[in-house]
Amino acid sequence: MTARIIDGRAVAERLRAAVAARVKTLSFRPGLRVVRVGEDPASGIYVRNKDRAAAAAGFDSATIHLPAETTEDALLAQVAALNADPAVDGILVQLPLPPQIRAEAVISAVDPARDVDGFHPVNAGLLAAGRPGLVPCTPKGVMHLLREAGVSLPGARALVLGRSQIVGRPMLQLLLAADCTVTVAHSRTRDLAAECRRAEILVAAVGRPEMVRGDWIAEDAVVIDVGINRLGNGRLVGDVAFQEAVTRAGAITPVPGGVGPMTIACLLENTLQAALARRG
Ligand code: NAP
Repeated sequence: MTARIIDGRAVAERLRAAVAARVKTLSFRPGLRVVRVGEDPASGIYVRNKDRAAAAAGFDSATIHLPAETTEDALLAQVAALNADPAVDGILVQLPLPPQIRAEAVISAVDPARDVDGFHPVNAGLLAAGRPGLVPCTPKGVMHLLREAGVSLPGARALVLGRSQIVGRPMLQLLLAADCTVTVAHSRTRDLAAECRRAEILVAAVGRPEMVRGDWIAEDAVVIDVGINRLGNGRLVGDVAFQEAVTRAGAITPVPGGVGPMTIACLLENTLQAALARRG
């Protein structure tokens, strides 16, 4: 058997088109500001892609690029200025930040109503409480993929591999809200392979190239690979050994072309949501 491939590019394209169509009906352009500090090369690519996608969707989008030696106080002042700007609906501070700046302090300084990354403790709390708020883009994108792939969620045994603030934890909350029976595994989990084999839905977000082997996957399971790992030879691979998994799983996301494109599409969706909520 060969797994059905879940095409994240196609799903993301449809979502971006839907957001753009809704923006056309508005009397204003939702405003997104991405703040980048320093010269991290991967961040440069992400920020450019976000800016481009936002402009294509009809947003008023701009990147504010600050030097690597920016102080925490200066960045907090920049965030405060964006919080006070009525034209700005969404603020995203690109991580990682240089070592002199505490990411937590900056994340907590963003107005929760404009926190389109969904990382602010208020939004994390709303999600944990099962109340509406801004949800982190990558796990939100995973939920879109599961729904678009027609995966039946209520009662399904789901395993989230990884417990980070940006992927694993919000993923747990979203799957729980969709009535899955969720287990979260991490670096201290005993017998990870056995935990994985029990899962009908497996979401891998560990950042370890091809760690999840084919024989860790239950026959017919739905496998969502969040991992993006660049090997020494330049090849991009996920956290799941795709060639092995594809012979066992019922459906699987590829890397690249799976979860990756959904993250930016959900950023646009969050910015639209923030704009509509703020401007009524
Ligand atoms: P992270 O903050 O490094 O968290 C990794 C998690 O995996 C941690 O909870 C860690 O456990 C767990 N882990 C690490 N090694 C493990 C092992 N050997 N066995 C079991 N668990 C292990 O990473 P992240 O930010 O969540 O990102 C995870 C992956 O997703 C990365 O490849 C990243 O590039 C990718 N990503 C992709 C997107 C996208 O747009 N598609 C967005 C964000 C992230 P402990 O908590 O015990 O340390």
